[in-house]
Amino acid sequence: MVTTVLLSSDALAATRAHAAEAYPLEACGLLLGTDELVEQALRCSNVAADPRTRFEIDPVALIAAHRRARSGGSAVLGCYHSHPSGPAEPSARDAADAAPDGGVWLILAGGRATAWRAVTGGSLHGRFDPLAIACEDGSATAQAAPCPGDANDH
Ligand SMILES: [Zn+2]
Repeated sequence: MVTTVLLSSDALAATRAHAAEAYPLEACGLLLGTDELVEQALRCSNVAADPRTRFEIDPVALIAAHRRARSGGSAVLGCYHSHPSGPAEPSARDAADAAPDGGVWLILAGGRATAWRAVTGGSLHGRFDPLAIACEDGSATAQAAPCPGDANDH
């Protein structure tokens, strides 16, 4: 099992910029690329009823991304969203919403980014296993995923 997610520096910067611009609402979007690399962060509308505390990726954008992937476009590797006031880790609600499909979840909060894989029986909330983040240029970021043992209930 791959325990590191490789992101292009552009994709990582784009998610951070989006999180900052959306504040105090949750920003969200899709992570696109190949099996080896998250090449692009695609901004999506947050259509949740209360986007300050929840996120729901615009289903139209989600369907379109999957359609493009099927016709030879970039694969949909996962999603990102921000926590304007919560910690940089998936919430219990995120776990309840996440399908255990192996997708990458990137969470942005307080200037940090953490990455997770949605799996059955994950170490956090029974749904997420932590992933280290590496940048395309080979430099590991300072925002490695926290030890699951540090996770608190939020
Ligand atoms: Zn969340």
